[in-house]
Amino acid sequence: MKLRVLVLGAGFGGLELSTILSESLGTELDLTLIDQHDSFFFGFSKLDVMFGRKPADAVKIPYRHLVKPGVRFRQETITAIDPVAKKVTTQNATYDADVLVVALGANYDLAATPGLAEGGNEYYSFAGAETLRNVIPQFTRGHAIVGVCGAPFKCPPAPSEAALMLHDYLLKRGVRDACTISIVMPFGSPIPPSPDTSKALLRAFEERHIQFIPQRKVRSLDPSRQVVMLDDGTEMPYNLFLGIPKHVAPEVVLESGLAENGWIPVTKTDLITRFPGVYAIGDVTSVGTPKAGVFAEGAAKIAAASIIASFRGNNNASVYTGAGSCYIEFGEGRVGRVDVDFFSGPKPHGIHHEPSEMLVVDKDHFGSSRKARWFGIPTR
Ligand SMILES: Cc1cc2nc3c(=O)[nH]c(=O)nc-3n(C[C@H](O)[C@H](O)[C@H](O)COP(=O)(O)OP(=O)(O)OC[C@H]3O[C@@H](n4cnc5c(N)ncnc54)[C@H](O)[C@@H]3O)c2cc1C
Repeated sequence: MKLRVLVLGAGFGGLELSTILSESLGTELDLTLIDQHDSFFFGFSKLDVMFGRKPADAVKIPYRHLVKPGVRFRQETITAIDPVAKKVTTQNATYDADVLVVALGANYDLAATPGLAEGGNEYYSFAGAETLRNVIPQFTRGHAIVGVCGAPFKCPPAPSEAALMLHDYLLKRGVRDACTISIVMPFGSPIPPSPDTSKALLRAFEERHIQFIPQRKVRSLDPSRQVVMLDDGTEMPYNLFLGIPKHVAPEVVLESGLAENGWIPVTKTDLITRFPGVYAIGDVTSVGTPKAGVFAEGAAKIAAASIIASFRGNNNASVYTGAGSCYIEFGEGRVGRVDVDFFSGPKPHGIHHEPSEMLVVDKDHFGSSRKARWFGIPTR
């Protein structure tokens, strides 16, 4: 008998989980992977697109490359999830499964920050990054603010990366002296689990005259006065606003009854929801790791192990440590890395790796190895 699995969302988590199940179960697997888009892209490629380092088309990997035993991809929009019946509806069809895996990621609520859509920009969506590609070249003087509008948000290093990359961009164009850059962040330090990485980033900000404003969020923008309002009432004038919008679970998840307090609660042992046979992995959960691809991938490994163990009638021996490595663009052609572990110790702990040109190669390999594993595209 084949195991019928429905994987909702072909992002970091969904792709890794489908790959493991295909490798492990092969012809015993009948897996349908559903995503609304025709291609995958890495979150970090949005930084490449917004600063014009790569064309938008060059960073997209079409799902047609995904050919795996037991796996079929469907480009459809999911409109309803029934976690009790394990039934999923899309605009085209209805699907039933023995096991359901929700890996639908996080969406953005621009309206939660008044003035953001009208008077600012965001670089967290692909469309936002593409728009900024044409907006940033027009910024030649004044104040740029990289501002977080809500927490939790994806990839905690990404605001620091945007500020450092903007510095390099403006320097290269000879206009850096006419511009100031600030970052507004809700944390006390750039990367709270790693004091060493935070110190390195704060040093990099200081050297580049980038102002770091901790413990604050952006509440609203007033485009008519070109002013950003923070959550403590402080007003900051701006000429360019690069926003990190408030994150929300996709509407279809919120309507399904799976979410509590905005996100899907799951067990740390095997990423299962309160509904039997229904798993959730990645950004859509409230498991306690940051919203980042590496953690979605780690969760996929544990959920896949649990699915395989229960199909075989075994116990799941894998332990979810909430560990992952995040690469950080430090500018000047260097990349740093922080290896974070959220669950093995008494508190989250991060190990800092100094920025270097060698880690640029490492980051490149991180991307190309996933392209090879998930899509069969050979590494260079
Ligand atoms: C600027 C930026 C930089 C980043 N850099 C890094 C980094 O360096 N390292 C890192 O690990 N992470 C990084 N991230 C974060 C990373 O991209 C996400 O955390 C990761 O993609 C989450 O994986 P996921 O599988 O949970 O969700 P996603 O990868 O977001 O996948 C969810 C999928 O569900 C699909 N979907 C949603 N709703 C529906 C629907 N109704 N019907 C059908 N399909 C639907 C979406 O199309 C999407 O493909 C970055 C993010 C940003 C914005």
